[in-house]
Amino acid sequence: MNTYTRLPINLVKGKGCRVWDDKGTSYLDMVAGIAVCNLGHAHPRVIKALETQAHEMFHCSNLYGIPIQENLAEMIVKNTFDSKVFFCNSGAEANEAAIKLARRCMIRENKVRSKIITCANSFHGRTLATVAATGQDRFKVGFDPIPEGFDTVAYGDMDALETALDDHTGAIMLEPIQGEGGVNVPPPGYLKKVRQFCDDHGLLLILDEVQTGMGRTGRLFGYMHEDVKPDIMTLAKALGNGFPVGALIARPDIASGFTPGSHASTFGGNPLAMACGVATMEVMLEENIAAASAEQGKYLMDELKDLSHRHACIQEIRGKGLMIGVDMDQDISSLVPAGLEKGILLNVIKGYTLRLIPPLIISRTEIDQAIKTIDLLLKEKGL
Ligand code: PLP
Repeated sequence: MNTYTRLPINLVKGKGCRVWDDKGTSYLDMVAGIAVCNLGHAHPRVIKALETQAHEMFHCSNLYGIPIQENLAEMIVKNTFDSKVFFCNSGAEANEAAIKLARRCMIRENKVRSKIITCANSFHGRTLATVAATGQDRFKVGFDPIPEGFDTVAYGDMDALETALDDHTGAIMLEPIQGEGGVNVPPPGYLKKVRQFCDDHGLLLILDEVQTGMGRTGRLFGYMHEDVKPDIMTLAKALGNGFPVGALIARPDIASGFTPGSHASTFGGNPLAMACGVATMEVMLEENIAAASAEQGKYLMDELKDLSHRHACIQEIRGKGLMIGVDMDQDISSLVPAGLEKGILLNVIKGYTLRLIPPLIISRTEIDQAIKTIDLLLKEKGL
């Protein structure tokens, strides 16, 4: 169906930070399938894990024990906070489950506190509830009736939270850094203040780490930049390095809001997905990919700042690790097809923000090549 405006190339192969089209042309990938292939394309350890698992078993219902699912859950818990894990297949599904779990907890406690505060410019997915949670009206057009129970406040603004809070508020849901909203970094200390606010008012803090998770921002998870822990966290995108997998992570007392029959997924925790998740997590930890993301992110950021001295169109550069947004003073959507001509995959959000989210294993040479190409593209457009 006509749901994406597609670019005029067919991608058929990838290796590390490079992809190839069906004509054999190669491109430097600064998009990574939208923050998905954090270990790069065709990572040998992930391929091996998938291959080995494929010979054992493709699928098994959650009616039975699935040891490899427990392995991944244990790795996630060990590297996050005391929690339980529910596996699903995408970011939207993980967030949908988080919303259901939060509501169920509030009902269980006999509180009529089903409302969730979310933020303007957030993005939480395309199911009806996650569209409702998303703080951007453009994703809601034509889908009425939109489910109720969400209040939207300005991101990074504590006063706005105070104003929105009422007797029906049960949770706050936000991204540590907004991705689809334009790579928006909240003021330092925001997460900590929101955590305190949740504690003061008995609210659940739900962090959507679908895009910021798995090393993207220079720490394993975005919340680790501040001394806070969420009550509920969602993951997807890079968790399987490209194999579809999502996860809902919740403190055990909250997780117990779900009981057999209250939530489920046929494919959730599928052995193939779990094998990819375990391998991805192992490489991520063993090779300290989050630290590489921080280091290369800093280098890329410095190079972009340097570039901004040569191009007046660059208004602001922001981000953490390898999640970087470059705001321009005009619509630069045409950089994306022009980039293809020069052998680079680029991503632009809302017309004005160049978003750089390459694989976290990107080398300095590849970053230099990206900068050189962006420089050339801007020059050719007279920007
Ligand atoms: N949450 C965030 C922060 C995202 O960036 C995205 C996708 O871009 C989603 C949720 C939805 O994930 P999916 O497309 O896997 O449903």
